[in-house]
Amino acid sequence: MRAAVFHRPGEQLTVEQVPVPEAAADEVIIAVKSCGICGSDLHMAEVHAADGGMAPLPPGAVMGHEFCGEVVEVGSAAAKSFKAGQRVTALPFIACGTCLACLSGNGHRCASVRSVGLGQEPGGYAEFVRVGSSDTLHLPTGVDWQFGALVEPLAVALHGVHAARLSPGENVLIMGAGPIGLATALWCRYFGAQHVVVSDRVPERLALAERLGATASVNATSEDVIGSFKRHAGRRPDVVIECIGLPGTQQLAMNYAPTGGRIVIVGVCMAADTIVPVKAITKELQVNYVFCYRRQDFQLTLDLLDREIINPEAMLTRSVTFAEFPQAFESLKSDKSACKVMLTP
Ligand SMILES: [Zn+2]
Ligand SMILES: [Zn+2]
Repeated sequence: MRAAVFHRPGEQLTVEQVPVPEAAADEVIIAVKSCGICGSDLHMAEVHAADGGMAPLPPGAVMGHEFCGEVVEVGSAAAKSFKAGQRVTALPFIACGTCLACLSGNGHRCASVRSVGLGQEPGGYAEFVRVGSSDTLHLPTGVDWQFGALVEPLAVALHGVHAARLSPGENVLIMGAGPIGLATALWCRYFGAQHVVVSDRVPERLALAERLGATASVNATSEDVIGSFKRHAGRRPDVVIECIGLPGTQQLAMNYAPTGGRIVIVGVCMAADTIVPVKAITKELQVNYVFCYRRQDFQLTLDLLDREIINPEAMLTRSVTFAEFPQAFESLKSDKSACKVMLTP
């Protein structure tokens, strides 16, 4: 089968023939119909061994953890739940499916978990991908291939907004209008926030924010973020959700929050960062870090997409074929105006 293969940091992915995966008893093989490029893929492809922190991708790795497709092979233990031809998406890991973590929807906490498309098991930048049956979910008829591949980033954002414990009528500042920041705006509106303001430095991304539920956007390059927020909402944000993940942004979130405010850190900062804690201490801030999602986040997202209660269409920038994919991946490293670019093998 064809797959877009990683070799070395800074080198373009190459489309190559690799072996088709085979399903163990509790696994499912999916023919990928759509797979989104994630910011963390762009980042992983640049990590060198000398960087410290995150482990570099092994040469030969196949990334891609935001996918959906059609079942082509089912392991013997999963034959009751899945059949060839069914439309599915999956959480990007293979876990045991029977431990407490797995049963509670937290397969990524399973002691035997192997990630898919994140450096361990090959991912969805390929014609076929192998997943664990316990974290594979049927796609409802109302969810097309493109929305199916958006479920993963939507679930990331849902998990973050859940941690924000929003009450109806509260006001939220979202830092960062990448795919996760934009999906966060969508969920904040869904959960009843009144003013949802998104800040970013890229005008094209800010233009998308209002299509996804933001009530205003702020260009952090040319405008005073908190001043603009206060003019729009009348006071500081009850909740600041950080979706950037670069050094310095956690301190900014603390500066923006009011006394007693809540902060959720969704952005994954891989570099050393410095904060001056006194701001957070004197304001008695509640800072919450979040990671991944639960299977329930996927399920709710699928259900609301199927019923057309949420519409993330503005997140879709374009789809590309295998032939276009390595170049498209490369250009996303510098072109921050795009939102979600997807491989359609
Ligand atoms: Zn991702
Ligand atoms: Zn488990």
